[in-house]
Amino acid sequence: MPIVNGRREPAGCRPRKRAQRKRRGLRKARACGHTDREPTASVGPLAGNHIDSGEVTATTRELDELLAGVSTVTVLTGAGVSTGSGIPDYRDRDGEWKHAPPMQYAEFSGSDAARRRYWARSYVGWQRFGKARPNAAHHALARLEGAGRIDTVITQNVDRLHSLAGSRNVIDLHGDLSKVRCIDCDDMSLRHRFQRELKDANPDWHAHVSGYRPDGDVELAATGQDDFRVPGCRKCGGRIKPDVVMFGESVPRLRVEAAMSAVDRSGALLVVGSSLMVFSGFRFARRAHETGKPIAIVNQGKTRADDIAAVKVEADCGELLPRLGAQHLAGAASA
Ligand SMILES: [Zn+2]
Repeated sequence: MPIVNGRREPAGCRPRKRAQRKRRGLRKARACGHTDREPTASVGPLAGNHIDSGEVTATTRELDELLAGVSTVTVLTGAGVSTGSGIPDYRDRDGEWKHAPPMQYAEFSGSDAARRRYWARSYVGWQRFGKARPNAAHHALARLEGAGRIDTVITQNVDRLHSLAGSRNVIDLHGDLSKVRCIDCDDMSLRHRFQRELKDANPDWHAHVSGYRPDGDVELAATGQDDFRVPGCRKCGGRIKPDVVMFGESVPRLRVEAAMSAVDRSGALLVVGSSLMVFSGFRFARRAHETGKPIAIVNQGKTRADDIAAVKVEADCGELLPRLGAQHLAGAASA
């Protein structure tokens, strides 16, 4: 049976999942909102935080129970993990676009005007995006990997912040913005170098920025973008593209297979900061579900996998993950 929007499951799976949840004492929970359990008396280091610390304690305990019951987890992250680094996310709490949807690959590759618009916006956006640094959530995941608790981090983000935080086994599912590639001859070079080429080609160009977007893009006033000059490939004069999987493109097959293998090797899937609205990410939740692996979700707002998750925590991952990490690291140290 096909899974549509994560709402349908193969016959017979749901009762088994319910039984598993009941056995593990797991339930869906909210760290900042309603909860169906009385907040515990235990108040941890988050006392004074805007999140009710008792509820956070209860929900992190459930995450801990799940994670403690498996050898390793694979983590799937989305834009929500990088908002604490000043990179905005794509979607609101209901999974709807916050901005106009990103440019499609067919438009980018097929239109000089579209590429001028893209690179004009990216030229401005990179001045901020290129300086983003990992936040507490990235660092917490890197520490958990170092403690042997995480097999792989699969990220839908293109900011390389997991690697910068020290995570070693990272699959950049959608590529990363630190490189550019020629569509026509496949020559690869660094984004920083292309940024200098863009600057040199547009010495007097200025634009009014009206907003920042998650993929290093910005919203610019309409005027001026058509005057932006985009240098061609140094080798063939062809079309330069960010080395990311644009909307309308497919993730390279080998990359998907490596990510699927990580899910298959691990005992559970932890989704952090993603609504999973895009199939390229959702398929890993579906794989975990189909192979009987529990799914835990830390995300503010609904996700496409809410109905198949063993644990759902609505919390700021930059606040929750360091706490989770601390518990596991303490456990590892005392073992
Ligand atoms: Zn080329």
